[in-house]
Amino acid sequence: MLSIYNTLTKNVEEIRPITPGRVTMYTCGPTVYRYAHIGNLRTYLMADWIRRILEADGNEVYHIKNITDVGHMRQELAEAGGDKMIMAALAEGKSLQEIGEFYAEWFWKDEERTNIKPAHVFPWASHHIPEMLEMVTTLMGNGGAYEAGGNIYFDVNSFPEYGKLSRNFGGDLLEGVRAEADPLKRDPRDFTLWKAAEPGRDVKWDSPWGEGFPGWHIECSAMAHKYLGEHFDIHTGGVDNVFPHHEDEIAQSEGTFGHRHVNYWVHGQHLLADGAKMAKSAGNVFLVEDLATRGFDPLAFRYLCMTVRYRHRMNFTFTSLKAAEKALTGLRNRLWVWRNAAAGAGQHVLSNDGKTWSARFWDAVHNDLDLPTALAITWEMSRSELAPADKVELLLDFDRVFGLDLDKVPMQYEIGPTTSAAIDRRAALREQSAYSDADAMREEVIANGMVVEDIGTATRVRPQTMLELQSARWPSVSASREVPSLLDQPDLYEFTFLLNAYDYVDDVRRCVEAVLRHTGGASVEMIVVDNGSTDGTAEYLEQAQAEHAKVKVIHCDHVVGDAAGKNIGLKQARGKYIILLDASTEVVGDVMSPVAEHLADGTVGVFGPFGLTTDDMQHFHEEVDRGDADAMQAYCMAFRRADLESVGLMHESFRFYRNLDIDYCFQFKDAGYRVVCDSSLPLVRHEHRQWEELEENQRDELSRKNFGRFLKRWGNRPDLLINPAARGFDTGFRH
Ligand SMILES: [Zn+2]
Repeated sequence: MLSIYNTLTKNVEEIRPITPGRVTMYTCGPTVYRYAHIGNLRTYLMADWIRRILEADGNEVYHIKNITDVGHMRQELAEAGGDKMIMAALAEGKSLQEIGEFYAEWFWKDEERTNIKPAHVFPWASHHIPEMLEMVTTLMGNGGAYEAGGNIYFDVNSFPEYGKLSRNFGGDLLEGVRAEADPLKRDPRDFTLWKAAEPGRDVKWDSPWGEGFPGWHIECSAMAHKYLGEHFDIHTGGVDNVFPHHEDEIAQSEGTFGHRHVNYWVHGQHLLADGAKMAKSAGNVFLVEDLATRGFDPLAFRYLCMTVRYRHRMNFTFTSLKAAEKALTGLRNRLWVWRNAAAGAGQHVLSNDGKTWSARFWDAVHNDLDLPTALAITWEMSRSELAPADKVELLLDFDRVFGLDLDKVPMQYEIGPTTSAAIDRRAALREQSAYSDADAMREEVIANGMVVEDIGTATRVRPQTMLELQSARWPSVSASREVPSLLDQPDLYEFTFLLNAYDYVDDVRRCVEAVLRHTGGASVEMIVVDNGSTDGTAEYLEQAQAEHAKVKVIHCDHVVGDAAGKNIGLKQARGKYIILLDASTEVVGDVMSPVAEHLADGTVGVFGPFGLTTDDMQHFHEEVDRGDADAMQAYCMAFRRADLESVGLMHESFRFYRNLDIDYCFQFKDAGYRVVCDSSLPLVRHEHRQWEELEENQRDELSRKNFGRFLKRWGNRPDLLINPAARGFDTGFRH
């Protein structure tokens, strides 16, 4: 029987359905005015595994997953500064319903690709306004709610158990609600059930208290009640739903019905990406589509999520995703081999050893969804002496929980006649011990997009996976730590031009070609780091590398972030001088001579054309044309490679470029070097599209975050400024 951690009781408990054999389950579903990311998907996967285990145990599971649409959308969007895509869709005359349907379709597609069983009902919030109003009316009638200014609030003091789920009774609770100081509330913890429509609002409904729209929490109470009744078994969501969403749901529902609402509350932990909270502005929000675009099987993400217990935070990296895909391919291959070995065995009865493996597996999954252990048992079983027929039966049985679609692994992969003939010829050559000829034949098969593996005397051929095909095109790295540092190696060139390239292939091309045009016969290499591009930049760079000996490309399999991308290039650079460029710049003359000239002065650490100065560490100005500066902008920044040993590499917490250049210049200054500027360097600055194409609120957020990082490191070091005393800058900082 499945036991699972109940947030309500803080205990791991056996799931005992209210109606034996039938489990009712509600999952807080997607908000359909944005894409669901892989962190959201992880929570839905958790619910899916719970459902699969309960079903494998013979229960019927009735599963509801709501679709949060409209309601507060306008308000939320306005607060967030507006979402370009939504605003554009609205401007085009698309209705909110159409926008919702668009994102819901994507959500369902992502669920399908990750093999999440569809809920039995996906109720839309906007289609259940009467049910919500009915609950609000009941609460108004029994003293659980009150009206103020056309809004209806839940009266937290009418529900003494408020806080029982989140254990948020006192100070923390106030902490959580402080942001919205609403003078109409009797108690700051009270929350909105119904909100009066403000003038001009077009998404609104009639109610006994005038036109308005529902609060967010009431939708889940009302829809859970409609489809699952007043009392049901399991409610799932992400940990960020515990408070206030689920706490408020309990208060509303139990305040309405006068008895317990849900027996088991189950919450999935957060997913981090590259060690950081996913944020659009940090460039580390990944969608299932992003994984698919990069060649991954979405089921590899499903596999990856099984390697971490649902109650633990999971750090998603492309390195771990690659490992997961490899493991998944391995399981499929083994099943393929066992199936062929067991073929023709007829009716099969599981051996006693097989039953022992089975018992171990089910113990693990029943033990609070311990999928990491279940996977370990599966691999151990696959390597055991068990008969292939037993292995086939067990793995397919386990896959009822895993949901990796292993039953779709065929007995024979379809291979074309050319490949088939090549395999036959290769077998004949091997028989004659003509191994080098056989190997050549093998290469031919691989070139046709197939994988050849010899198991004993048999040869298996299967199509390459998308990932194998993509990584065969060019190697890529997932993190800067995978790239060896050559900083201790001697110089090979006079100059390294370094470009950290994102998408915007035209800008990248302009920048690369300009460097090639103006470096002639000089001793130059140009390193371009392809920072996870998907718009054809990678293909262009491969072509440039093939045509020009100077160009060296390093591909990243995803956006690794700005500092990490630049560090990859720095570690691989072999030029005496490194000239770091941005794709928005275009070299229009000889930049090498002035760079070499200025950097011949050992006191100069950084040289470039776009210097900055500051009076207060808060505002940096482009007012210096020539001479010492407080920092250099990364549009073009040159330094000696030999100094990197003492100065160090860039700080990789800067995923976005902004302020990274200033931060890095302060590293040089801290090591005793000057930053020097000469604006006459022959360089043109074009539109910086990475910045121009950001939304206003993202720019603010990014700038603020990166500036915070900078200030934290250097805020108390005004001594590093070119002339701190003359600027009267000595108050407010610790020395
Ligand atoms: Zn909900």
